[in-house]
Amino acid sequence: MIRPARDAIISIMLASLLSIGGTRTATGGSNLPDPATAGFAEQLYRLDCGHSLANDESVWTPGENIGRSIEFSSTCWLIKRGSQWVLWDTGVPETALNDPKGWSTLPKLIVYHLDKTITSQLAELGLKTGDITYVALSHTHGDHIGNVGLFPNSTILMQRAEYSWIHSPDGTNDNVNQLKALARKLLGTPKHLQLIDGDTDLFGDGSVTLVSTPGHTPGSQSLLVHLKNSGFIILSGDVVHLEESFEKNIVPSLNTDKAASIASMDKVRRMIATYHAKLFINHDKAQADALKLLPAFYD
Ligand SMILES: [Zn+2]
Repeated sequence: MIRPARDAIISIMLASLLSIGGTRTATGGSNLPDPATAGFAEQLYRLDCGHSLANDESVWTPGENIGRSIEFSSTCWLIKRGSQWVLWDTGVPETALNDPKGWSTLPKLIVYHLDKTITSQLAELGLKTGDITYVALSHTHGDHIGNVGLFPNSTILMQRAEYSWIHSPDGTNDNVNQLKALARKLLGTPKHLQLIDGDTDLFGDGSVTLVSTPGHTPGSQSLLVHLKNSGFIILSGDVVHLEESFEKNIVPSLNTDKAASIASMDKVRRMIATYHAKLFINHDKAQADALKLLPAFYD
């Protein structure tokens, strides 16, 4: 009986070594948390931050769905951790509220509509914009930073690579130049701007981690949130737009770097494995519509 017991112990040791090795692969050289010791955020709320209609899905799925229209969701997330609140993205500008003409970042391609404001959704929880400690931006496209100006007292968190990029000289792609100009206008000059470099553990306990996932734009990021009952959840940013694109590794034609986009999707896949995480995809309307909406929350 001694031998099987010893074999069992060896295989448990091997398994734990392997899982540590797996963690190292996903977190190596970064500030991604150790899944075994990460702290917790208390609540995660989904906010409705708009929806859009694009006239050619193939911009997001090159070679497929040419000329087919597609509806996207625009999603913001609110996280409570201790007495602090983190808002992830700010959605379509509140000035677009109930405007039948809508609002656009690239008028020839996509039109956004807004049925509810962030302010009114925060108010449902008894919160004012001044109660938000951090506003973390996945990237600077207008449908993500449309309301950043409503949070002058919050610390705005973004990747330094993103900030440098929108202030860099124009390139040859007119759509990209147009998006950068709009980004500078909507971002303005935040009073409290914190530029970060790569993966960043926001509270130092692994509960909320900004994860560098460049490719859609040079400083795009995703967010890893750890909750007691729901486990790890990855908020995509725009590392991917649709579940199907993630499965097929499809890169939108508007992305600034195709190879980086594929590497970032791989990074997210490794994280899903390491953290047994769920991936919530910002613009995937079918997925987003099925998720809890504020005042309901994940904990
Ligand atoms: Zn977007």
